[in-house]
Amino acid sequence: MVTAIAFSLCLLAALGLFFRQLWGRFNLLRAAAPAALFDRIPERLKAVVIYAFGQEKFVRPAVASVKETSAGWMHFFIFWGFVILGLQITTMFGRAYSDHFYLPGLSPHLLGGPYMLLRDLMEVTVLVSIGVAFVRWLGTRPPRLFGFSPAENRLRGHSHWEAYLILGLIGTIMTTGLLYDGGRIVVHAGDPGVMGEAAWEPFSRLAGRLLAPAGPGVAAGVSNVAWWVHNLVVLAFLNLLPLSKHFHIITSVPNVFFKKLEPTGALAKQDLENATRFGSSHIDHFTWKQVLDMFTCTECGRCSSQCPATATGKPLAPRQLLLDLRDYLYQHQDEVIAKRVARPTNGDGAEPAVVGENVVGPVITDEVLWACNVCRACEESCPVMIEYVDKIVDMRRHLVQEEARFPAELTRTFKGMETQSNPWGIGAEKRFAWAEGLDIPTLADKPDAEYLYYVGCAGSFDDRNKKTTQAFARLLKKAGVDFACLGTEELCNGETARRLGNEYLYQSMAQGLVETLNGYKVRKIITNCPHCFNTIRNEFPQFDGRYEVVHAAELVQRLLAAGRLRVPAGFGKRTVYHDSCYYGRFNEIYDEPREVLGKSGAQLAEMQRHKHFGMCCGAGGGRMWIEEDPDKRVNLLRTDQALATNPEVIAVSCPFCMTMLSDGIKAKDIEDKVQTLDVMEIVDKVPCGPAT
Ligand code: SF4
Ligand code: SF4
Repeated sequence: MVTAIAFSLCLLAALGLFFRQLWGRFNLLRAAAPAALFDRIPERLKAVVIYAFGQEKFVRPAVASVKETSAGWMHFFIFWGFVILGLQITTMFGRAYSDHFYLPGLSPHLLGGPYMLLRDLMEVTVLVSIGVAFVRWLGTRPPRLFGFSPAENRLRGHSHWEAYLILGLIGTIMTTGLLYDGGRIVVHAGDPGVMGEAAWEPFSRLAGRLLAPAGPGVAAGVSNVAWWVHNLVVLAFLNLLPLSKHFHIITSVPNVFFKKLEPTGALAKQDLENATRFGSSHIDHFTWKQVLDMFTCTECGRCSSQCPATATGKPLAPRQLLLDLRDYLYQHQDEVIAKRVARPTNGDGAEPAVVGENVVGPVITDEVLWACNVCRACEESCPVMIEYVDKIVDMRRHLVQEEARFPAELTRTFKGMETQSNPWGIGAEKRFAWAEGLDIPTLADKPDAEYLYYVGCAGSFDDRNKKTTQAFARLLKKAGVDFACLGTEELCNGETARRLGNEYLYQSMAQGLVETLNGYKVRKIITNCPHCFNTIRNEFPQFDGRYEVVHAAELVQRLLAAGRLRVPAGFGKRTVYHDSCYYGRFNEIYDEPREVLGKSGAQLAEMQRHKHFGMCCGAGGGRMWIEEDPDKRVNLLRTDQALATNPEVIAVSCPFCMTMLSDGIKAKDIEDKVQTLDVMEIVDKVPCGPAT
């Protein structure tokens, strides 16, 4: 009776405190900007099954350079240990009121036996996993735990006491669970019910065997103390959650549930007509999903380990960026909540004053934001589906559209796009010069062509990439594809402007191109540029531009399969394929370019970082147009990664990757040894022709 009353008081106090903290966090979510994410429930539930319960990002095979597999399985077991032990914790709480309390269905007569076996095994498995975690923290000390230099100053030099405390608490919960059951087995040695349970509990029996020589009195004392320690540690742990990175234990399932379901490559369309602000600059400008992201970060550092900006010594590390925002949010949480409360009383309908200072600049510096390649490597590796690109682009939108603050070299880029519809600012009349002598039809001549070949700016204006365009056009002709180009009517789709935060410019360019495409009633589009592909396929539907968009490798693969192109597998060179981010992570196009290369006879090798884990060439996110510090060039790092496979050819399928990697080869002065070629150029190089 005394135990029941004392425990009830502890339980009520702990739950009261816990729900008070949760209410505060919930109010922060309610105070954030809106986001409509309650649609497509079956898809959301499926994501929860795969990523939360299946722990897919933790246990999927990783490339050697990521070395995540053992840590991933460790987390898998801790997660499932907690799910199973959640039932045990409830049973332990119930034992305050009855020594023979069982959850419905889990008594020894029903499913209790198998459950007890599973629980016993899980307690030990979690203990082993805790041991592995301690070895990582105290022994191997990977930079993922201690911060990547130089960007992650937040974690470097930190004592990390919280991680040790949490691991210690989890270990205590497991150990006391075993000791409680072990003591119970000794005390109730003559009780057939308890002995029936013991038959299913190999590790608790072992604990009992260790306690037995001390006699039933000591075993009862140990069991009793273990019960109290177990339950009090659980209650303390519960209250630590909202205050620590372990809040993800509560928020990760909802964060996965509310993940972005639109194509990952599509940025949200800004309502330019009705907006009262452009982009995000204050902490209360972020949506509740973006705030939930901040709550959910486990600080595991997988994102920063994959970030090309972090790897090349730039000031950006995605984990640091998110945690800086989270710290600022927590510092200003009372103001954020107060603003929401004040909102309905604002009779004039005006927005209450923004909360805190502008975070863009003082909290997240301009240099951090401009360092991003918008490559999604961070998002791809995040096990709890935290999204970065939208936050970074939202802050860029504020910088460009509200403050006109951006790297000086972008002035030329934006002007070129505005006046000549290409980022170089080359005369628009030269857009079709690449086709001279090739007899390429235009839509004006051939409006009923099956496909529009949309070339894009790089393939039209850049001398090196014009060769790729010509090679691909030759292939289309050889295979007898019914296609036409827009010629000088082609317009830039504005992709670069959107990634750089110039949403106004992007929208005007996108609308202009959609009007042209719809004017010709275009239905099918081929591109050989992943940036154009991603924008037209995934973003143009925001402007009523809906087309079947096919990328060059997919089309060539189809032509080969249909026998419309014949490739004699004569290329024969050691070739390493570099995945572009916008075909790869943005659109999951990994196999087609490799298959086409294989059919051409290329001897394919893979870089350590390839497919999902591929690294950006350095041009993404508009960084093609931003000057880079010679010591911090992403393209040189990526070139080194490619050269580690000892290739004769680096194959690409993106004009920006072509520029960056061929610049890397030039910088190393090995152009005579290693060539950079587009996949389409390789197919065009082998003496292929139409099927006979
Ligand atoms: S999108 Fe790429 S460059 Fe930007 S933070 Fe993520 S990993 Fe780093
Ligand atoms: S954002 Fe995701 S990957 Fe990065 S530290 Fe947080 S949980 Fe880990």
